[in-house]
Amino acid sequence: MTASPESAVDRSNGAFAPTDATTFKRKPERGSYDRDAAYRIIDEALIAHVGIAVDDQPFVIPMVHARDGDRLLLHGSVASRLLRALEQGTPACVTVTLLDGLVLADAARNHSVNFRSVVVLGIARRVRDPQALPDALACVVDHILPGRSREARGASEQDLRDTLLVEIAMETASVKVREGGPMVAPGDREEDRCWTGLLPLALVAGAPIADERTGTNAPLPPSLSPWRRPGLAG
Ligand SMILES: Cc1cc2nc3c(=O)[nH]c(=O)nc-3n(C[C@H](O)[C@H](O)[C@H](O)COP(=O)(O)OP(=O)(O)OC[C@H]3O[C@@H](n4cnc5c(N)ncnc54)[C@H](O)[C@@H]3O)c2cc1C
Repeated sequence: MTASPESAVDRSNGAFAPTDATTFKRKPERGSYDRDAAYRIIDEALIAHVGIAVDDQPFVIPMVHARDGDRLLLHGSVASRLLRALEQGTPACVTVTLLDGLVLADAARNHSVNFRSVVVLGIARRVRDPQALPDALACVVDHILPGRSREARGASEQDLRDTLLVEIAMETASVKVREGGPMVAPGDREEDRCWTGLLPLALVAGAPIADERTGTNAPLPPSLSPWRRPGLAG
């Protein structure tokens, strides 16, 4: 999905409203505020990088995320510094990235990667409601592996006590996508040519390895028959 510079500010129904912080400065033609595009990227990606600043020190920590409607979910231990900071209202920047390929150009400076990424800005809120928490945790499990929450034991009361889950309402976000082959720079000369083009990259699963308790003869659960991520063909 590439947008024209004019369409980078998408004010169609459901699009994120741009803010000063999410206005594209460089390569705006690759950007959009398309909510559906953002949600597809968030759903396909398995990890997010969650950024906060604590006493002027930025931290960017990798985490598993999930999406439930218009909210982004993050979970972990009640002892997690990051989650405790989020719970206390520290502003967050959550970045989700999919790497689609290596872009190999003539000129060293034009090498790049194809990607789809989303940046979400917001303030998190802890989900405490004992009715809502198990469903939110199931959402995270199903993000890791769709359908897995129907196979795994649900959260016990102890699990719920040990877990800190926060939600970030997705109101301020932006999408950026690079696709296609390498740029040909005006200065590129035919005599300097080397192989140029694209090396597509994709996430590939290996064969499942059952643990000792499961045993190698146990049939695979429906969630692994076959394994697939949202948005991936096959
Ligand atoms: C792909 C992936 C997914 C993850 N998913 C989750 C999740 O869903 N929930 C969850 O709670 N945790 C997850 N983790 C672990 C997470 O990255 C943190 O290590 C953990 O949450 C502890 O956070 P904290 O704020 O308490 O860290 P602290 O232990 O307080 O961090 C102290 C310091 O430890 C170092 N550190 C912490 N984490 C990392 C790291 N991952 N890599 C390198 N250095 C680090 C940093 O220097 C940091 O400043 C995931 C990690 C990875 C790589």
